[in-house]
Amino acid sequence: MRILILAATHGNELLGIKLYERLLKQRSVLLESIDFVIGNPRAYAKSLRYTDKDLNRSYGIGGDEYEATRAREIQEYIHLTQPDIVLDMHTTNCVQPNCLIVHDLSSDIKKKFLRASHIDTILQVQPMGDIATVGDNIIGYEVPNKAITPALLAAIAQDIQNFIMHEQPYPHKKLYKMLGKIYKQEILPQQAKSFVNFQEHELGFVPIMTGNNSYKKQTDYLGFKASVTEEIMV
Ligand SMILES: [Zn+2]
Repeated sequence: MRILILAATHGNELLGIKLYERLLKQRSVLLESIDFVIGNPRAYAKSLRYTDKDLNRSYGIGGDEYEATRAREIQEYIHLTQPDIVLDMHTTNCVQPNCLIVHDLSSDIKKKFLRASHIDTILQVQPMGDIATVGDNIIGYEVPNKAITPALLAAIAQDIQNFIMHEQPYPHKKLYKMLGKIYKQEILPQQAKSFVNFQEHELGFVPIMTGNNSYKKQTDYLGFKASVTEEIMV
């Protein structure tokens, strides 16, 4: 099994970096199966989310900005190296559970990784020029910054080990399907304040990645809306 860890797709999100540092420090045997790439090195060097535009909105859409070029390089790299699974490591300042992000549950290899992972919350997003656009073997980790502890890094390393060893102890998942974006213009400020991520709101959807530190500073949307939880077996 070959695993590509894509770290710092957003340059100020350090989950992938910290995971790799830990594996190096431990001289982990997992390193034999892991390839490591910094998604956005320029933004990482500057501790920024991105420099010209969001790398994770730059796949498959062309352009000559730094991130658009970088997206093509990463896509080419994945095409050349053919990893079994690509783990795109993200963090958030939103209050929310740790989750795994996929476009769909179509591929066996993706489902195999989900079953290997201790994280039980799955967010199925719509394609939006993100890394998952380039293949059906891509899974995102999204965890709050405060959740990055040695215990979490150990648990993610165990996810990877389970995957490599064909162990799949976690088939039961909670699935949330993204329905669209929550646009600022369609939501009253007091409604936005009452959102609790991954909990159904009286407006009839589940808010995802909303909050003071969410998308709302840089975009015309506050976060995503998802369907109510489905309990599934992957
Ligand atoms: Zn991110």
